[in-house]
Amino acid sequence: MKKILTSVLLLTTLIHSQSSLEWVTHFEKSNFLETPRYTETMKYFQKLANFSEFAVFDSFGISPQERNLNYLIVSKDKVFDPVEVKKTGKPVLLIINGIHSGEIEGKDACMLLLKDILATKEKINLTDNIVILVVPIFNVDGHERMSPYNRINQNGPKEMGWRTTSQNKNLNRDWMKADAPEMQAMLKLFYSWLPDFIIDSHSTDGADYQYTITYGVEKFGNIYSGTAEWLTEEFIPSIEDGVNNKGFLVHPYVYLKEWRKGLDAGIVDWAATPRFSTGYAALQNRPSLLIETHMTKPYKDRVYSTKAMIETTLEFLNLNHQQLIELNKEADEKSIEELTVKKQYLPLTFNNTDKFEEINFKGYNYYWDSSTVSGTNKLVYNNEKKDFKLKYYNDVIVTDSVLLPDGYLIPKEWEYLVEILKLHGIQVEVLTADTMLDVTKYHFNNVEFSNSSYEGRPQVKFNYMSFTKNQAVSSGTFYVPTNQRTVRVIANLLEPKADDSFIKWGFMNSIFERTEYFENYVMEKIAVKMLEDNAELKKEFESKLIEDEEFRNDADARLNYFYSKSPYYDKNFNVYPIVRAE
Ligand SMILES: [Zn+2]
Repeated sequence: MKKILTSVLLLTTLIHSQSSLEWVTHFEKSNFLETPRYTETMKYFQKLANFSEFAVFDSFGISPQERNLNYLIVSKDKVFDPVEVKKTGKPVLLIINGIHSGEIEGKDACMLLLKDILATKEKINLTDNIVILVVPIFNVDGHERMSPYNRINQNGPKEMGWRTTSQNKNLNRDWMKADAPEMQAMLKLFYSWLPDFIIDSHSTDGADYQYTITYGVEKFGNIYSGTAEWLTEEFIPSIEDGVNNKGFLVHPYVYLKEWRKGLDAGIVDWAATPRFSTGYAALQNRPSLLIETHMTKPYKDRVYSTKAMIETTLEFLNLNHQQLIELNKEADEKSIEELTVKKQYLPLTFNNTDKFEEINFKGYNYYWDSSTVSGTNKLVYNNEKKDFKLKYYNDVIVTDSVLLPDGYLIPKEWEYLVEILKLHGIQVEVLTADTMLDVTKYHFNNVEFSNSSYEGRPQVKFNYMSFTKNQAVSSGTFYVPTNQRTVRVIANLLEPKADDSFIKWGFMNSIFERTEYFENYVMEKIAVKMLEDNAELKKEFESKLIEDEEFRNDADARLNYFYSKSPYYDKNFNVYPIVRAE
């Protein structure tokens, strides 16, 4: 009997080890030094889906170089449709890897974790109360631009992908403007699933220190206050404990106050603008986690620490799944109530104050030495571990905010903006009759274009004045009501002073162009007539000549003065075509 039992045990162990062997990842086989290419990665994910009844591998779009953008859906209820998943009451976690595909540890970490969940089923309980969506590689074209030389500061893998896409677009600056086809596909995925929690995995640049992994969450005025509180009080302590207990030193994201001064000037916390994943999730009333492993640590440690952080998040979300669903529902409802019913101010821009707290920081000793290369002082780290007192600037204040109207009116000729609004899950109506409405309009001045292209766009800066008017609005005009759950996204795209608004990204630069010009000999005659007919104008002009020397000596400015007050002047020049319906 004993002999039979031993044989059975041996056989079981053999089968187990064979099945484990079958699931060994490229990263493991390479002695933790390499990451697999696109095709091999996708085969592994497909194999997981073929093997497990709890997973489906699907595509959500196609890249400019015609690679499929894929994602794995993991559902213990075997429900793989977003509408049906919502009915189960389980939250959805979206994990995005390789938005910067040179920073690819999230992909290898997810392969290891999914092996534990779906293949060996050792950690199948991590899916008890959550549906998980995993994007193995978001920037798929960038991923295949592989080289050992793509990340100068980074310690492995042996070869890695490139930061930006095949069109040289940085997907993690593209969440709002959605220029990249990959981002347009991601927003459709986001809108159709509306995930309850988002993880975005990176490897950082910056100073050298002992922490293997750092993280960021949104907790200032750019996110619903209840979500900020939950992340700060519940999630962060849990994630720090969990990752520490799994053997990795963890710290909030280390963003240097002054890049060239290293840690000397301290580090800052900040409110991410919505061009970034975490800032975008905040506008969608959803909590998110930014993972940033430390670039100088071995690739193996970076992958396993990322796995530890994702696993800890899964443990936390499994325990708090009900709370998360309720929190997101509350964030959606309260955002509508606070911003559109009670008409509270929506914060739009943020800045750090000079306040800081001193924190203990596990760094490496460093000193400044003269450099014959740069001709200035250079920063030199040694491997000596040292605990520092560090200035942590974590007081973030609102620098500008806005009161929202009942809705925004977008003339039909700007329909392509409406298409982007729809990608964000924003509901847009169309007026079916001509009507007169009280509206607020913006008139821009001091318009300045950037000297260089940023993210493929010439950005624009301006000041503006607002004025109210009873205006004819024609049938076919688009109407974007603000009383919807995407209210924060709407305001950040349509209010000119928001940093990620369409107008600031340069989507509407043609409105800043003058297209008709006067001949001086024509304008001279009209100006004389205007002076004869209008005593007020004559008085104003004459006192301007006395008071303003520059104006007095500028012939063009003098003629322009009359042109701008004549009926020939373009009423739409520098006027924002989108108006607020109050
Ligand atoms: Zn990154």
